[in-house]
Amino acid sequence: MTTTETDSGVLAGDERMLIDGELQLTGSGATFDVVHPATEEVAGRATDGTVEDLGRAVAAARRAFDTTEWSRDVEFRYHCLTQLHTALERNKERLRRITVTEVGCPVSMTGSHIESPIDEVAHWAEIGRNFEYLQDTGVHQSLAGPSRRLLHYDPVGVVGAITPWNVPFYLNVAETVPALMAGNTVVLKPAQLTPWAGSELGRIVAEETDIPAGVFNVVVSNANEVGAALSADPRVDMITFTGSTATGRAILAAGASTVKRTLLELGGKSAHIVLDDADLTAALPMAAMLACIMSGQSCVLPSRILLPRSRYDEGLAILQATMEGFPVGDPWDPKNMQGPQISQGQRAKVLGLIADGIASGARLVTGGGVPSDLPVGYYVQPTLLADVDPDARVAQEEIFGPVLTVTPFDTDDEAITIANNSIYGLAGQVSSADEDRALTVALRLRTGSANINGGQSFGLTSPFGGTKQSGLGRRNGLHGFQEYLEIKTLGLPV
Ligand code: NAD
Repeated sequence: MTTTETDSGVLAGDERMLIDGELQLTGSGATFDVVHPATEEVAGRATDGTVEDLGRAVAAARRAFDTTEWSRDVEFRYHCLTQLHTALERNKERLRRITVTEVGCPVSMTGSHIESPIDEVAHWAEIGRNFEYLQDTGVHQSLAGPSRRLLHYDPVGVVGAITPWNVPFYLNVAETVPALMAGNTVVLKPAQLTPWAGSELGRIVAEETDIPAGVFNVVVSNANEVGAALSADPRVDMITFTGSTATGRAILAAGASTVKRTLLELGGKSAHIVLDDADLTAALPMAAMLACIMSGQSCVLPSRILLPRSRYDEGLAILQATMEGFPVGDPWDPKNMQGPQISQGQRAKVLGLIADGIASGARLVTGGGVPSDLPVGYYVQPTLLADVDPDARVAQEEIFGPVLTVTPFDTDDEAITIANNSIYGLAGQVSSADEDRALTVALRLRTGSANINGGQSFGLTSPFGGTKQSGLGRRNGLHGFQEYLEIKTLGLPV
């Protein structure tokens, strides 16, 4: 295992990938750099896997699905995933340091990166063990007379999992563990900017669990072609993907010729509608915080704040005060709640969209640039843009930075129209002193979820996903488990 440590806590992950039970480097020995976003320094390297490596991983997953008992032996899967849960607990602090190193997220904010996914492994192990794979639905009428029908839930087969960099360890687990527990075999392709969240998961599976060779594979690569090859491979039965809508479209197109089942969790541009009777001091400090923690690199972030015109200045002042006092800086310092953007390219994109918003008529209330006391690291100031036209690019495109746009409205109907004026439909929020009124508004949002007055729709036990171009299908809840299963209907004589 290759690790390097410095006083700051920076820790490099394993350079190798897991293919067919073996931790290995790509044949040519090629590697790519992994940069710590807070120092801009190279923290270590990852193997630069190729389309050929991917082909070997898919062949191994195919063989493991078609010729072993994995797909049929629920108790063995339970044993392996329980082992994985224990192993992840053992590796927790190492995983935390590697995550802060490659993502740049504040160490104080790593609960959703580390603790949540580790808990998730135990959750799916129990769900999968207790699931009724064979269900008797009783006697049904048919043209040939009455017939008894059973439903059998079969695993889909070989699942290709492609993940982004914003919450990499969590998403690697969320995409692969329910798939494995449902009896599928998996090839994971982690994001280029965060290869270690994937390579470490592969190392732990190989070194600390009985998961058989070929059942779980990780192909680390700096090339988008590897993800593209996975989504086009005819030996793969299903793609589960989290990432941008543009890549989601490419994955759908690539899978069309083999009619692949596709689960897509894509981009978002969620709105927070603050109704005119809302308690602004309860709703808006949290709204500003949400924009800053994770440096705005969150798909569900309500990045469009819609304020009633009658309380517009009052609302802007609260958002501004929270953003100006927000602790931004070194992610290893537990006082900080916002770290850098993940890369120079992402920071440039965020700064470019802010500039575009101002050019299109938005008013810069605070932020807008790089913090003067943080010249090193890819930091962006918490930024508030007011008077934003709902059709402006900054109100339509995902920014993925610590940026809120604010748009005024006069009536509830107008707010709903603005909120729904988006190609995305991932999430939303409504704040009001009148819960029934808030619920009426939330029901009219064309989104996969909505939170009312700080309530939380997101969690392992309830479905999560997007409408419109925010995705296809649902993770979490029983719906999320069943995404990784096919239904076979069996007819028997009465
Ligand atoms: P991205 O789409 O650029 O990349 C995601 C993954 O897709 C990477 O592993 C990449 O290598 C791979 N990829 C790139 N081109 C491909 C192709 N043609 N075929 C197959 N795979 C390909 O996304 P990103 O920049 O890494 O992540 C940010 C995006 O992820 C944002 O849009 C964000 O909203 C979204 N996201 C969504 C959710 C959700 O649950 N809806 C959660 C987190 C992030």
